Amino acid sequence: MIKSLHARHHQFAQQERQVEFLSNGIFNNGTLPSFEKKIGSVGFFPLKPSAIEIFQVNIGYMCNQVCKHCHVDAGPDRKEIMTRETMQQCLEVLEHTKIKTLDITGGAPEMNPDFRYFVSEAHKRRVREIIVRSNLTIIRSNPKYYDLPQFFKENNVRVCSSLPFYSADKTDRQRGEGVFKDSIEALQQLNKVGYGKEGSGMVLDLVYNPAGAFLPGDQKGLERDFKKELKDHFGVEFNNLFTITNIPISRFLDFLIESGNYEGYMEKLVNAFNPAAVAGVMCRNTISIDWQGNLYDCDFNQMLGLKTEPKAGQHISTFDVTKLEDRNIVINNHCFACTAGAGSSCQGATA
Ligand code: SF4
Ligand code: SF4
Repeated sequence: MIKSLHARHHQFAQQERQVEFLSNGIFNNGTLPSFEKKIGSVGFFPLKPSAIEIFQVNIGYMCNQVCKHCHVDAGPDRKEIMTRETMQQCLEVLEHTKIKTLDITGGAPEMNPDFRYFVSEAHKRRVREIIVRSNLTIIRSNPKYYDLPQFFKENNVRVCSSLPFYSADKTDRQRGEGVFKDSIEALQQLNKVGYGKEGSGMVLDLVYNPAGAFLPGDQKGLERDFKKELKDHFGVEFNNLFTITNIPISRFLDFLIESGNYEGYMEKLVNAFNPAAVAGVMCRNTISIDWQGNLYDCDFNQMLGLKTEPKAGQHISTFDVTKLEDRNIVINNHCFACTAGAGSSCQGATA
């Protein structure tokens, strides 16, 4: 098993080192335009939010996997976990605002001991949509997680799961030995309680990200292939496939540099800049919260330690929708991944 950047005391375990790297080099010597310049040229700087619709809460960086390209740098050694008190602050915000979606992510969010408390409280308080980003293998990792599909069903959870490919070799190469087999078993268990089945109303989405330094292919075409292959070979059904572009931060940034692909990848992202994708970037309708209750424009900025601008408020305890909806979104050159080609967000392509 590979180790997290934190466990290796890697320079990129320090968020400011990543920001420094992304701000300099090719973006500082005139080789490539900065993201700020690029969106400015199409009238989008400063980048402003629309209405906040999605409340994405990262309840901890602990994970049972250590995937090669993880933007969270998650793994079993990460001990940052949201407390029940911070979850209660999040629930209060959800109760007193019009935000309709609670999107729970990690790490493997299910490993937080208060995960079930958080989900069932949100359900009781009638949060309109609860999404859980599950890595699938957690469901098969320990008997205490075997009933998760039933728990999701009882709490009307929409399940969104990563599956890099419909074959074992490509999936295991990116996510670890045996991940594909466990993921398929977990998908079968989810199908068994009704997830992904037509007419059940129980939504199971999959997320695809490329295995290397390239942009994802066409979302609709990939969805067709995934549906056919997973059904034919494993009897697995699901609703939507979302394609996500790898963001050049954390372990993927390390991979790009180590493999000599950093400059080429950034050039690809810049050349594929799509002005139509700028309007759909997820920071425009999402707010991201970390395990300590700090606020960010998105989960990627969270991993870079780039909090929301100070005057908009930076902590859940002072959450103010009006101020947040008027903020300037904090950007840097990693943002090119969200505007390349068909665009990229937690809900897949945007343009
Ligand atoms: S399952 Fe997700 S959070 Fe865990 S290491 Fe893999 S990419 Fe990161
Ligand atoms: S990386 Fe975050 S802040 Fe940058 S464009 Fe994407 S969603 Fe917005």
